[in-house]
Amino acid sequence: MNKLETYLVKLIEAQGPLNIAAFMAEALGNRRHGYYMKQDPFGRGGDFTTAPEISQMFGEMIGLWHAGNWLNMGSPEKIHLIELGPGRGTLMQDALRSIKIVPGLLDAIDLHLIEMSPVLRKRQQDALKNYARPIWHDHIRDALAAAKGKPVLIIANEFFDALPVRQFQKSEAGWHERLVRLDENRRLSLGLAPAPCPEQMIPAAVLRADIGNIVEICPVAENILAEICEHIHAFGGAALVIDYGHDRHGVGDTLQAVRDHKYVDILADPGDADLTTHVNFQRLKEVAQDGGLQVFGPTEQGKFLKAVGIDARAESLLKVATAEQSKDILSALHRLTDDAQMGRLFKVMALAEPSLAGVIGFER
Ligand code: SAH
Repeated sequence: MNKLETYLVKLIEAQGPLNIAAFMAEALGNRRHGYYMKQDPFGRGGDFTTAPEISQMFGEMIGLWHAGNWLNMGSPEKIHLIELGPGRGTLMQDALRSIKIVPGLLDAIDLHLIEMSPVLRKRQQDALKNYARPIWHDHIRDALAAAKGKPVLIIANEFFDALPVRQFQKSEAGWHERLVRLDENRRLSLGLAPAPCPEQMIPAAVLRADIGNIVEICPVAENILAEICEHIHAFGGAALVIDYGHDRHGVGDTLQAVRDHKYVDILADPGDADLTTHVNFQRLKEVAQDGGLQVFGPTEQGKFLKAVGIDARAESLLKVATAEQSKDILSALHRLTDDAQMGRLFKVMALAEPSLAGVIGFER
């Protein structure tokens, strides 16, 4: 039993079972033993690889996207650029490099990073030291408070999939919350709350699902997005959310644990594996529409990157590349955009202030 499991067993003995959201929050964010709190999980030697770690072209496209918005907004003198969950800082480093070519934009930017992990904050600081002086926050609301009165440009890549979800399973009697409890050997095991929850907790679109089905809700994601929308509606700006997920409401257990590039049991060695779920873009879209914003997409990552210009960027990199580098550029382009790779599973959704006359990368 690792240290986090020992702690969770004591916690459950003292207070009763945890719901899946509380378990996820502990597994990822426990101050001492949480997955993101104690290590840098990325890259070949780590547990998983993300798009910005595959190629500089990914972050550069994000930078161009935001630069286009800034120009379309009439080049405001001051703008706050906010990244949620910046990982190693690679995406922001590449984005700022492409932003630098737009006269005046870098000087207009105040950079905010939302990051809970001290280990990753240090990596981000090192990655960005030649470009900007970021301000770190634990919560988006603190960054938005610092940006009060000014427009914002926001990016979140593989951030929403790490937020804690609650799961409910349908029985004859109704929907029961899924819980992490202890088995007879004092080990973590999955179970269900004995009584069904109030029906209004379940999204209307799935209420009639068959018995046995599981539904996931992510109140934290909804709250974060609602706060972002409120700011953009009041003070202007645009946001880009990129993640794997589905574009309509549905049922299914999407919670997964990944360690060393392989799927593992979600309860085995908590805090030593990454835990994620698929993002429900339909729900996020509803929140943004309720918040009075324009919503674009979700579209597929491959289509988005091509529409912003990744092929042209690859071509210009290829012109000055060695044979070895050319192979890497082409293979990265394939991984990021091909339907069978990240191109289709990953979705991109954009939000914008009502007055913005469109954003790059989306068909209307
Ligand atoms: N965007 C990066 C990293 C994705 S991993 C990339 O694409 O490579 C998720 C990131 O979100 C990590 O930096 C993690 O520490 C951070 N994170 C996860 N949950 C968080 C939370 N609740 N609050 C703040 N940061 C969080």
